[in-house]
Amino acid sequence: MENNWQYYARYTLKGANKSNVFFKTKMFKDCTFPIKIPMEFARLIDKRNKDDPLLKQVITPKNLSKSTNFSLSPLEDEKYSPVAGLIHKYPNRVLLIASQVCAIHCQFCFRQNFNYVEHDAISNWVEIQNYIINDVKINEVILSGGDPLSLSDDKLSTLIDNIAHIEHIKTLRVHTRNAVVEPSRITRKLVEIFNQSRLNIVIVLHINHAQELSVQFAQKIIELTRVTLLSQSVLLRGVNDSIEVLTELCLSLFDLGILPYYLHMLDKVQGAQDFLVKDDYAIQLHQQLKSNLSGYLVPKLVRDSSSYSKDWLF
Ligand code: SF4
Repeated sequence: MENNWQYYARYTLKGANKSNVFFKTKMFKDCTFPIKIPMEFARLIDKRNKDDPLLKQVITPKNLSKSTNFSLSPLEDEKYSPVAGLIHKYPNRVLLIASQVCAIHCQFCFRQNFNYVEHDAISNWVEIQNYIINDVKINEVILSGGDPLSLSDDKLSTLIDNIAHIEHIKTLRVHTRNAVVEPSRITRKLVEIFNQSRLNIVIVLHINHAQELSVQFAQKIIELTRVTLLSQSVLLRGVNDSIEVLTELCLSLFDLGILPYYLHMLDKVQGAQDFLVKDDYAIQLHQQLKSNLSGYLVPKLVRDSSSYSKDWLF
C-alpha cells in the first residue's frame, strides 16, 4: 500500500454533503469551486474546532459576494501565454500548466477560474518544446498547474525527460501542494525521478501552517536527497496571520530541511475576500518575523502582480 497514492485518493472528500458528514457540520456548501479534501489532510483537522486553520482553507467561505477589487483571474496569466500551456513572464524561465487537477481545492486559489482546457502543456508539448528550444535565454522550466504531482509517475517522468533533453535548460522547478496534503504521493518512483535527473531540481512546497506537516510527510520528504526544498505560503486571515503561527511554521519547515522562500499576499480572486490580510498588518508581521528568526529563515513577503514583475513588499 505504501506507494499507492491512487488508493488513498479514492477516499478524498468531494462535495459539500460528504464533507458535512465527515466533519459533522453544515458549514460546507456546494459552490463554483467544488469542495475537495484529501483524506490525509482531513485527518490533520481537529473536528471539534470550527476555527481549525486547515479546515478554514477548504471550507466554503462565508462571504462569496462579488467585491470590486477582486476578479476572476487576478494575475491574468493568459496574457503571457505565447503558446497554449506555457506562461512566459520572465526572460530566463517559463511556467508550464502541467496538470489541471489538484489533490485539494484551496478556497483562496487564484487559479480557480483558469481556463485549463485551453492550457494543457502535456497535450501541447511539441509546440512548447519548439518554443523553448528556440529561446536559449530560457534556462529554467517551472511545472505548475493545477498540481504537477497529480500526473502519474510515468507521465511526469516522460515530461521531465523531455525537458532534460533541451540542452540549455539547467533547472526544473516544481510547485506543489499535493506532496504536503497527500504525502503518499511521494512514491519511491517519484523520489527516483527527482533524485536521478540531470537537472537541478527545486521543489517549492505550498504549506500554510505547521499543522499541515504530518509525520508521513516528514518521513517522505527526507528521501529527496538531491532536491532543493523551498516553501511558499499564502498569508491568510484566520489561518496563519499571527506572529506565533508564522514563527512556528518557519522553524518547523527548517527542521525538515525546507527553507521558507515566499510569503505571498493573497491574490484577489472573487470569493476569497474572507482571507485578505491588509498590507500594513502583513508588513508588521514580517518585521516581527525578522526579529524572531535568523535571516535565512524569513520568507520574502511578496505579491504577485498582473503586470510583468512580482511586487516585493520587502
Ligand atoms: S493546490 Fe494550489 S493550484 Fe491547487 S487549489 Fe490549492 S492553491 Fe490552487
